[in-house]
Amino acid sequence: MPGILYVVATPIGNLEDITARALRILREVALIAAEDTRHSRKLLNHFGIHTPLISCHEHNEQQRQDTLISRLLAGESIALISDAGTPAIADPGYRLVRACHLAGVTVTPIPGASALLAALSAAGEPTDRFVFEGFLPTRAAAREAALRAICNEPRTVVCYETPHRLLAALAAIAAVWGAERPLVVARELTKLHEELFRGTVNQALEHFGAARVRGELVLILPPYAAAAPPRDLAVVLRDLLVTQRLSRKEAVKLVAKDFGVPRSDVYRISLEIDQSKGEKESA
Ligand code: SAM
Repeated sequence: MPGILYVVATPIGNLEDITARALRILREVALIAAEDTRHSRKLLNHFGIHTPLISCHEHNEQQRQDTLISRLLAGESIALISDAGTPAIADPGYRLVRACHLAGVTVTPIPGASALLAALSAAGEPTDRFVFEGFLPTRAAAREAALRAICNEPRTVVCYETPHRLLAALAAIAAVWGAERPLVVARELTKLHEELFRGTVNQALEHFGAARVRGELVLILPPYAAAAPPRDLAVVLRDLLVTQRLSRKEAVKLVAKDFGVPRSDVYRISLEIDQSKGEKESA
């Protein structure tokens, strides 16, 4: 029987956040594949776990696959861990996991901490639908392009960010999304200096610009619809038709795209606008 690849979540700060199941699996497996073996040895020592470690990180994941899969096929079970949180979430791991599936090796998640879900759960923003953007691009032009692409996103957007890039990221959000857009910055979750900052982008720039930013960060950007002042489709359509004198076809097309509603519905509203305009004129 082949062994099992366990994808094991480890704490993102507070060591009490490791699960009882994760500790048992880390003790029982033949080998632990870790992103940084020295970093993970400290965690394992804390819990008195002496399972052998092997490195498996972004730069050697491809080469490690053969070794790990042949040991799994030979019947040894292996745990995959990253430096913190859930492996394969903005961390190495998915290639190995996919290779295991292709080789017929069972993969089992051992869920636990993840900065993404911890931040979302405490942010107080809509969570029924969200988009995880990972880290925003580091180069200014690419970052602005990425932000522009999600400017009207109807779901909550979650990004990871590093402390030394936070101010640049906030400035880019202010430039592309507007300085008054609300956001949440979750810093150092589960750690001593945990902070959940809620405010506008401008307020965040002021708050985090006051001193050197330290620690790990998650940005939560509420959906465009929730953040922007509500707009009335009929008012926008009337403005295009009556004030800006666009053709009905053009106005309907623009508004349908902008509001994400079928053109037939907008067309019907445009006829109602005509009718009420006619009634006003004949009164
Ligand atoms: N796989 C991890 C997970 O499940 O959360 C994420 C790994 S990613 C390389 C590291 C990033 O996660 C950090 O740069 C930061 O954006 C976020 N992060 C990790 N720990 C955090 C914490 N305690 N508080 C806030 N953000 C954290």
